[in-house]
Amino acid sequence: MSDPVRLGIFGWPVAHSKSPQMHESAARALGIELQYERFEVAPGDLAAAVRHKHQAGIDGYNLTVPHKEAIMALVDDVAPEARAIGAVNTVVRADERYVGHNTDALGLVRSLEEAGVQLNDARVVVVGAGGAARAAVVGLSNAGANEVTVLSRRPEQGEALIKALGSHADCALEAAPLSEASWCFETATLFVQATSATLESNPRAFEFAASLPIDALPADAAVVDMVYKPLRTAVLARAEEFGLTIVDGLGMLLHQGALAFEMWTGFEPPLDVMRSALND
Ligand code: NDP
Repeated sequence: MSDPVRLGIFGWPVAHSKSPQMHESAARALGIELQYERFEVAPGDLAAAVRHKHQAGIDGYNLTVPHKEAIMALVDDVAPEARAIGAVNTVVRADERYVGHNTDALGLVRSLEEAGVQLNDARVVVVGAGGAARAAVVGLSNAGANEVTVLSRRPEQGEALIKALGSHADCALEAAPLSEASWCFETATLFVQATSATLESNPRAFEFAASLPIDALPADAAVVDMVYKPLRTAVLARAEEFGLTIVDGLGMLLHQGALAFEMWTGFEPPLDVMRSALND
């Protein structure tokens, strides 16, 4: 009998992560032996914890907040797209080397395609300028978007994003302060909520959603919120009021996980099984 595939997720906190149930259910459905653990590691302890797992020969792992950037200095190599995004959410062992990847970018694209959102020639507005927003810009640009405007509450963060991604994006890319943004909503075909402001832990999520000119979006625009806790965020609730197409963050979580599963095991991921595990 072969050894089980040994995987895990580093985060702080990480108890809420649904990744173990998603990957273990997929493995069970395919008859693969697989263990997926949660590693609750404080930022200052990441280097030692990762070194320990590499020495023990772990097959791969995911990273969640706040480790997606720090891991880049701790692996043997980083794939070009993850390097451009500046964040790694998946590490794969290949030929005894640990290589960092970013599956968030393509995960977002796949979830939007699955929801029937047109990405070719899209005019996109992204709010937020952290790792998730950078993944959205790279993913949507690769998927054929025509223009992407990034809105951030700290203009310098948006400018830094443009500087870092300008040469990687194949579309017109600009940044603007969130407070002066209504003009770009009027012609957008897709609005991407990529901040942590709509998390259920934020008591001001409703206020944040109310401050966005969602009513200025055209009637056939789509709105995606990367946050999946809650599933129906204040931004999605508001978009629904205006009859817009809405896409929640669970699809992105599913597809980023499915891409990682395929890289780790070489098997085609059973999407329906993984989706039910997330919905449980
Ligand atoms: P970061 O902490 O790197 O970035 C968060 C961004 O949100 C920053 O630009 C921050 O601005 C901004 N922000 C936070 N609060 C507000 C606010 N009230 N108003 C305006 N801007 C705000 O996080 P990530 O980019 O890694 O992740 C963002 C969210 O995306 C997370 O909550 C996560 O749950 C979700 N996500 C979902 C995934 C999925 O699979 N569905 C995958 C990855 C992320 P500032 O720096 O000024 O605070």
